[in-house]
Amino acid sequence: MVEPLDPGLYIVATPIGNLGDVSARAVAVLGGVAAVACEDTRVTGKLLHHLGFKQKLIRYDDHASEATRDHLLGIAASSPLALVSDAGTPLISDPGYQLVVAARALGIAVTSIPGPSAAIVALTLAGLPSDRFLFAGFLPSKDKARREVLTELAAIKATLVFYETAPRLAASLAAIDEELPGRAVAVARELTKKFEECRNGSPADLIAHYATHPPKGEIVLLIGPPGEVQVDAADAEAMLIAALATLKPSQAAAEVARQTGVDRKVLYARAMELK
Ligand code: SAM
Repeated sequence: MVEPLDPGLYIVATPIGNLGDVSARAVAVLGGVAAVACEDTRVTGKLLHHLGFKQKLIRYDDHASEATRDHLLGIAASSPLALVSDAGTPLISDPGYQLVVAARALGIAVTSIPGPSAAIVALTLAGLPSDRFLFAGFLPSKDKARREVLTELAAIKATLVFYETAPRLAASLAAIDEELPGRAVAVARELTKKFEECRNGSPADLIAHYATHPPKGEIVLLIGPPGEVQVDAADAEAMLIAALATLKPSQAAAEVARQTGVDRKVLYARAMELK
């Protein structure tokens, strides 16, 4: 016999594209809760239908009214309540933070049923350093703000992980090419789905590729740490020549080294040859 669930808030991760990724615990919890708080009742309705459940669905996001939140907290105080997002792990660029804060403040039990999250799936695929990473959600949609975020994060010695959309990919790659030129970048697309793809290259390589192959579907954009550069020799040489037009060889070498991570002494030797 299945043990009834205790009252509380159950944060449940759901698949990011492949329904086979729903965990046995997620199924048990979704089947055992009194209600499910979700972003979109149609999306979660389909998942529950696929699992053979008919739980009550309550629409929730972090902009929901206090009355909606209080209603959910009332349920979680006396019965098991699940929180799911449209796909992946709730709270990771998805609603739930305010609900968790409020539930914990009220002493309501909160537990998390782990499962897929696009950021982690992308990090495991991308072949970029995974020992230190910084997940930074979506880059801003406005160009100036996007560049400010990239500049702010440029010196962090960790792989940077962003959520991205297909229509904005080209603009983000162009901003990365200018603000963090030569850094190793990966575009992880349609993870866990039929057309899953992870493409690596310098920002310039990827700009060229997606100019002729417009991206489709859902995307995670990753930028390797400084020093993990993917500048080919021709790129570094071109940057050095451009820098030498206005800077002394030592300054040009230092600037190109800063931008690309290529060894400053190697660049300086080449700058002296070019001069
Ligand atoms: N909470 C979710 C998670 O844990 O992955 C993320 C929600 S966020 C609103 C949606 C973004 O996640 C998409 O725009 C995309 O950047 C990324 N994403 C979600 N599913 C994806 C997939 N199958 N492949 C690539 N990226 C995905």
